[in-house]
Amino acid sequence: MLILDGKAAAASLRQELAGEVAALEKQYGSRPGLAVILVGQDPASQVYVRNKERACHEAGIHSEAHRLPDTTPQDELLALIDSLNARKDIHGILLQLPLPKHLNSQLCLERIHPEKDVDGFHPVNMGKLTLGLPGLRPCTPKGVMVLLERYNLSPAGKKAVVVGRSNIVGKPLALMLGAPGPFANATVTVCHSGTPNLTEVCREADFLFVAMGRPRCITADMVKAGAVVVDVGINRTEDGLCGDCDYSGLMEKAAAMTPVPGGIGPMTIAMLLANTVQAFQQQCAC
Ligand code: NAP
Repeated sequence: MLILDGKAAAASLRQELAGEVAALEKQYGSRPGLAVILVGQDPASQVYVRNKERACHEAGIHSEAHRLPDTTPQDELLALIDSLNARKDIHGILLQLPLPKHLNSQLCLERIHPEKDVDGFHPVNMGKLTLGLPGLRPCTPKGVMVLLERYNLSPAGKKAVVVGRSNIVGKPLALMLGAPGPFANATVTVCHSGTPNLTEVCREADFLFVAMGRPRCITADMVKAGAVVVDVGINRTEDGLCGDCDYSGLMEKAAAMTPVPGGIGPMTIAMLLANTVQAFQQQCAC
């Protein structure tokens, strides 16, 4: 079975981006800037933000983290977003989720200027994705698509099944897979907790994408022999990190598969950098 090594692919992408950033700095006399906002003390979010800062630094992207206490009022957070929207040296703004319960995530995400929305979650960018217009795309599904392309695995003309319909993974991934294009153009089925016959639907997939948040839920009997399996899930269990797929069982069955960790996680961070560079280019072109 072919292991789709997201860690290696992301490392080479980050290197390519570092070259692009250096060339842009020569051309424009400034470099891309990313602001990450972290509210509260969520341990996983703190690790994610540190990793993003490190990746930016290595690629030559200016990054700054705004760490706010978990008691931060809504108005204060919105005022920070407004000030970052107005700054010329900040081209991307990322609001680390989840937010503390008293804050309205949707309201805050919609306050980020769509051109600086490097997470691609703003309704304007989700709308552009739906309409097939250029725009900033959500990092995780974009990372899935880029990884397939790096391995020359095209889902065009194939049956793709996406398990999960969240706004950050499943839904945008299904749209990307079903869009026209050489590394898309799949016939897509989306499954969720209301899908009655998950095993049968998954077994039809030439390309199976799993983003459920259920540790090792997809087992070998749910996978067609020779399928490409992309496991987006990251679950913290007593035995450490694991995906949504039962890796050991699937090894015999799938033709190619992403590991967890080292699959889509590193690709997501690489796409955040790519989106920051894209946002910089768009803003410089205006
Ligand atoms: P989410 O918002 O909880 O969505 C999970 C989706 O899976 C929902 O659509 C849900 O259906 C569906 N689902 C749950 N149980 C199911 C079942 N038994 N049968 C069929 N469908 C089921 O999660 P998410 O934010 O999309 O994240 C999914 C996983 O990806 C998590 O493990 C998360 O940590 C991981 N993730 C990884 C990255 C990365 O960088 N690698 C990025 C983001 C997320 P309903 O809609 O009906 O509830």
